[in-house]
Amino acid sequence: MQFNSTYNDLDRRHIIKLLASEGEEKKCLFKEAARVKKEHVGDIVYFRGLIEFSNLCHKNCLYCGIRSGNRKVVRYDLTDEEIIDSARYAFDNRYGSIVLQSGELESNAFTKRIDSLLKKINSLTHGGLRITLSCGEQEEDVYRQWFESGAQRYLLRIETSNPGLYSRLHPNDRKHSFNRRVDCLNNLKKIGYQAGTGVMIGLPFQTTADLADDLLFMQQNDIVMIGMGPYLEHTDTPLYKYRSLLLPREKRFDLTLKMIAVLRIIMKDINIAATTAMQAIDKLGREKAIMVGANVIMPNITPGSYRDDYLLYDGKPCIDENPEDCKTCLEARIAIAGNEIAYGEWGDSAHYSH
Ligand code: SF4
Repeated sequence: MQFNSTYNDLDRRHIIKLLASEGEEKKCLFKEAARVKKEHVGDIVYFRGLIEFSNLCHKNCLYCGIRSGNRKVVRYDLTDEEIIDSARYAFDNRYGSIVLQSGELESNAFTKRIDSLLKKINSLTHGGLRITLSCGEQEEDVYRQWFESGAQRYLLRIETSNPGLYSRLHPNDRKHSFNRRVDCLNNLKKIGYQAGTGVMIGLPFQTTADLADDLLFMQQNDIVMIGMGPYLEHTDTPLYKYRSLLLPREKRFDLTLKMIAVLRIIMKDINIAATTAMQAIDKLGREKAIMVGANVIMPNITPGSYRDDYLLYDGKPCIDENPEDCKTCLEARIAIAGNEIAYGEWGDSAHYSH
């Protein structure tokens, strides 16, 4: 398959073909993605210190290990001091940015709490950290309030751009609406956030055409940060009963690499994360993602004692490491992938223009 250097408008048919590629064709895809990455974002990886501050969630997504209906989960909620200490760790270690992630809650108390945390962290670091929120769907005025209090980025995964598939992954009620998810993404962009999204790859009932549409959805919506990972089943979820429909894990991993590579080719200057879920399948998963186009890694800086309670899927790696172990391990891994960590840099997507 031929590529040329101005390629950013692969059509759906062409993308489907690339996602099914094997052998020489696949090698060629990965080589081109690496070349585009080097040319447009450099062989550089940005750190986002991930603080999974609470696994409380009022939703019940059918694939998620911490959904509200799972009574086996030990629920936790870090104190504000613990969250601020983790942010301080990221700042002192020149991570450049953090991600505050939780299950989804919508209440005045939650809105105020996040607002206060944003102000405290910005004051502590003199605005030196870019702060990403990943706290689910909220009303537009809540997003606006948080933006004005110092959040610059927001991650809200669409999980799939196919509304029919979305409805098979979620309870069919007003709390789990595909349209609201899309509206929220649009509101985030309208307010001025660097908006991020992502999808799961290798879901039951998902087709290669769905995945091609996911990539086109990201392109058409001008998303500047993407985190995509293989779907990993969790035993205590309703979707687990469809596990016989799944591709083998190595195939889901391979498909994820191809998704990253195609995305890098069609959206040359966005930020693409090498997700932890990739490492759950392949020990060198994140390095491989970096080599085919990813340029962001999210070291987990949640205090270690809470990490095994934020299990969205079975077999999550690194849950018993402390932040220092995690950092040292990642430094070595990124060097293996021939890339360099950009310490002390925010690493805003070059694609984002405010
Ligand atoms: S995927 Fe997110 S919103 Fe859905 S149940 Fe899990 S934590 Fe809650």
